[in-house]
Amino acid sequence: MSPSLSRPTRRPERLLIVGSVLTVLVIVGIVTALLIREHANTLQTAKRTASNITQLIDADVLRNVELYDMTLKGLIAAAERNDLHSVSADIRHLVLFDRSTAAPYKGDILLLDSHGEVIADSSLLTPKTGNFADRDYFQIHQANPDIGLYISRPFMARCVCDDQWRIAFSRRVSAPDGRFQGVAVASMRLSYFHQLFSGLNIGSNSTINLINQQGILLAQEPMLELDMVDKDLSQRPNVARMLREHDGSFQGISSVDRQGRLYTFSSVGDLPLIVAVALSTDEIFAQWKRAALLISLATGVLCIGLLWMAWMLSNELRRRHRAEQVLSELAATDALTGLANRRTLDQRLRLEWDRAQRSTEPLTLLMIDVDHFKAFNDRHGHHGGDEALRKVAQVISDNIRRPADLAARYGGEEFAVVLPHTDAKGAWVIAEHIRSSVEHLPRAANAERPITVSIGMSSWDKRSRMSLEALLLSADQALYEAKHSGRNRIVSADDRSHAPRGNAAGDAPRPKA
Ligand code: GH3
Ligand code: MG
Ligand code: MG
Repeated sequence: MSPSLSRPTRRPERLLIVGSVLTVLVIVGIVTALLIREHANTLQTAKRTASNITQLIDADVLRNVELYDMTLKGLIAAAERNDLHSVSADIRHLVLFDRSTAAPYKGDILLLDSHGEVIADSSLLTPKTGNFADRDYFQIHQANPDIGLYISRPFMARCVCDDQWRIAFSRRVSAPDGRFQGVAVASMRLSYFHQLFSGLNIGSNSTINLINQQGILLAQEPMLELDMVDKDLSQRPNVARMLREHDGSFQGISSVDRQGRLYTFSSVGDLPLIVAVALSTDEIFAQWKRAALLISLATGVLCIGLLWMAWMLSNELRRRHRAEQVLSELAATDALTGLANRRTLDQRLRLEWDRAQRSTEPLTLLMIDVDHFKAFNDRHGHHGGDEALRKVAQVISDNIRRPADLAARYGGEEFAVVLPHTDAKGAWVIAEHIRSSVEHLPRAANAERPITVSIGMSSWDKRSRMSLEALLLSADQALYEAKHSGRNRIVSADDRSHAPRGNAAGDAPRPKA
């Protein structure tokens, strides 16, 4: 049995690995939290930017619509004057369209009678012939007296003058008794929105949209699809949500190009129009993504470096730990036999002695000496002697079983065995096993006698008053007595003190002749 000499050690290398893994987790956690916060900030900034754009557009559109409304109100007010019939056509024309000059992207301003016929035209003194009773604005005003200012669906002008989309702003002309008398209508080219939207730099993959409350697209910049103006988009999930909520912001996937966008939208004053700014999320987060990639890479390299260093250091610590363990085992072990050495014996004997004093459990010490070993050495040589010592040590080691038992080489061909919690009776059995096992070891070639050992034994129990030194001395004396009474025998100091000298090991085998 090789002595278990090393105390259980704390494993700093394990602590190092756990510590560095925890550090890496904390670093990753902090970096992740910072990146998430930065992501939220970026989104917030984009929302604010988009919201500013919608407000800018709202203000411009409102001001423009107000100009058109003023034109219409002026036209209606003038049309209701009875004195206009008596003035010349050009004066009448001047009065009717007095307030119509300021509106940009203005198309025709017309006054229609109750059948949809043109009765006044801002661009001609003699109005062109035409009937607009089929237009949505005419029918709406005809059916609803209280509709106020109406904004039509987009349409193309009937003249071949241009192929630009327009919308119309219109108001009903009513008689004092409320009867429908016609419609004042001003058209505006939708290129106004194109000019307004294209002046705002929002990124190449983002769009600004104007839809009416029915989900009809009036303008989009830049156009994602061809011929989108006047298309009903109310069934598209993102548009449906805007029509429902009127004001707000959300992230969604465009049903046109499957791209993620941040939709920020608001109603234009009290008008039935919604401005929606759709910023590409790829563009919003492009810079954040670059920074996140860089930071993640740097953090990854840092963490891997940290873990690698911890791993190397822990390997080094483990190696050193093992080396220390080997060294301490070497320092505690006898090189020839592998048993504990004298130094360890002294320490353990003192330790077990103190324990025995505290617990009052018995403690027995065996001193074992190989008989006639000088002669053995002389006969078999030093090498043969060493081999025999190893075998004896193995026998001693094989015969002690408890973890607290300790076998040690005391010096030369002498051994000592410490048997804690063992009284003289129990120790005698062990000693006898050792003695007889050594005697029965296979003989070396040309050996004239078997190897034998003499054993001196001394026990301490709670009734004894001896010191540790006295225990050692009495075991040594018992051994001396075993030698002198014939060798290959056991003498117990305990029995010796009660039995006549020379007959101490009453039942010990008689030495062989
Ligand atoms: P006794 O029966 O009285 O014990 O006689 P002995 O010859 O064994 O005793 P003695 O003390 O006279 O001789 C001990 C011998 O043990 C002396 C030495 O040669 C031998 N010896 C001591 N240590 C070692 C060792 O490590 N290796 C070898 N081979 N021999 C050793
Ligand atoms: Mg000796
Ligand atoms: Mg000897």
